[in-house]
Amino acid sequence: MNVTSPPKKIIIVGGGSAGWMTALMYGDALIKTGVEITVLESPSVGVIGVGEGSTPALKRYFDSLGIAEAEWMPECHATYKSGITFDGWSTKPGYESYFHQFATMVDNLTLPNFMESVHSRQRGAAIDARPNRYFLSSRLSDDCLAPIGAENFPFFTTYGYHFDATLLGQFLHKRAAALGVQHKVCHVTHAVMNERGDIAAVATQEGEQLAADFFIDCSGFSALLIGKTLETPFVSYADNLFNDSAIAMPSEIGDKIPTQTVSTAMQHGWAWKIPLTNRFGNGYVYSSSFVSADQAEHELRAKLGLLESDTQARHLKMKLGRVTKHWNRNVLAVGLSQGFLEPLEATALYLTQMTAAIFLLFLEKGDLSEKAQDLYNQEIHDYFDGHRDYIVAHYKTNSRTDTPYWRANAENLSGVSDSLKHIFQTWIEGKDLVAEVRRQNIERFYPIGSWYALLAGMGTFPAIEGGVAGDTLAPLDDFMRRCALNFRDHRTVLDEMAKMRNT
Ligand SMILES: Cc1cc2nc3c(=O)[nH]c(=O)nc-3n(C[C@H](O)[C@H](O)[C@H](O)COP(=O)(O)OP(=O)(O)OC[C@H]3O[C@@H](n4cnc5c(N)ncnc54)[C@H](O)[C@@H]3O)c2cc1C
Repeated sequence: MNVTSPPKKIIIVGGGSAGWMTALMYGDALIKTGVEITVLESPSVGVIGVGEGSTPALKRYFDSLGIAEAEWMPECHATYKSGITFDGWSTKPGYESYFHQFATMVDNLTLPNFMESVHSRQRGAAIDARPNRYFLSSRLSDDCLAPIGAENFPFFTTYGYHFDATLLGQFLHKRAAALGVQHKVCHVTHAVMNERGDIAAVATQEGEQLAADFFIDCSGFSALLIGKTLETPFVSYADNLFNDSAIAMPSEIGDKIPTQTVSTAMQHGWAWKIPLTNRFGNGYVYSSSFVSADQAEHELRAKLGLLESDTQARHLKMKLGRVTKHWNRNVLAVGLSQGFLEPLEATALYLTQMTAAIFLLFLEKGDLSEKAQDLYNQEIHDYFDGHRDYIVAHYKTNSRTDTPYWRANAENLSGVSDSLKHIFQTWIEGKDLVAEVRRQNIERFYPIGSWYALLAGMGTFPAIEGGVAGDTLAPLDDFMRRCALNFRDHRTVLDEMAKMRNT
């Protein structure tokens, strides 16, 4: 590693969501200190153009840049997201569908109830231990209410967004350009190395050599600098997660706009349904070892009622895993070039944001030592592997056995990390999961409420006779109903925001 002083000239190769998200963040922090930032974008390689759901971290990103929702949401057909419903993942009676909430402040009151119900259910009590009725975000989703409380409602809510990924990239580009980030349309063919083995410049098909002190690889799955040039090894997650393909296609949105993503288990993977203001984005993430692309498209179309429709479907290949060094020599890989997890929890942009934000801390400190590089790479590995484990947990706790795909997932033990084994063991033995999650320091990836939601939501409990006991949750339902009175119809809120922007 030969970067010794903070770079004065940074080239970002790639103008997809990762490239522009990084460019805007770095433009905001560094241009005023005299750093020059240029984004290179190929005229012949497009952006991936999918990736329509976020975690609550995207709000923190915009807030930190002082960009109000009214400035970007209407332009990107964006909607609010309170969480994700998982349909059909579990076959356990009463657990066929559950909601994974984005935590809100009200959860401080209701999370203990939820956890207590889960513990009772673990001990064999016939009680409703799905997360749904315990969380305000679930209630808001059921009622299509925007997660923006009335001014006098004393609890803040946490939420993410759904958006058109291509439009989001364009918005970020516009804002980065306004800050002084430069943009050049050119196709990078290869890198030119210096005598130390760092990248000195990138050469383009247009015949230029563009030099910089530091390069950020946002070239997508092609991983032009981190992979092709520096040959950074890649750790595949193929043993952990079988899905390697996806199909995306839109469908019409109705009058009501939901505030949740729906993830439905399919025969050979799962389908997403994401509401935007002008359409639903749909997709099927599947394993090509179990189904052909044509059969998968047929299954998705049948689900959407689009068998006879001429709506085009886009087919994509996915490479799951991560590089062994996100920061290697004078290159930082951000976005699909550094790695990818299937989008079950919509975490790719979050990992992009964290990768860029944590590196910025090192840049601002001026600490580009080898020790800093090792620390940084370990932290980002932990983020990737921690998120991978949470996704793997969905496949290990599902109870479907109807196809070879689901049976193979249930039988696949090689994909379960030691960390995840400890989580499962703690849960099954009814021991203290909070302590275990803290012991492993993995709360920074998924909070304890998310682990409870997943494990309880899938019905990972010993079987009991009979259904749920009488309606012991009626007071909680009433509390949620009254809380929900402080929230307004989602479409109305979005329409007002769009109107405000146009006036
Ligand atoms: C099926 C699917 C669903 C997804 N869903 C979600 C989701 O719900 N939420 C989420 O957060 N993420 C999701 N993602 C991930 C998300 O799409 C990506 O993380 C995000 O779009 C960032 O992509 P990128 O910018 O790294 O790459 P890309 O969009 O592929 O951009 C690559 C850029 O590099 C440029 N480039 C490539 N080669 C060259 C070259 N030789 N010279 C110059 N420029 C070059 C291209 O022109 C382009 O601008 C999903 C991904 C897939 C595959």
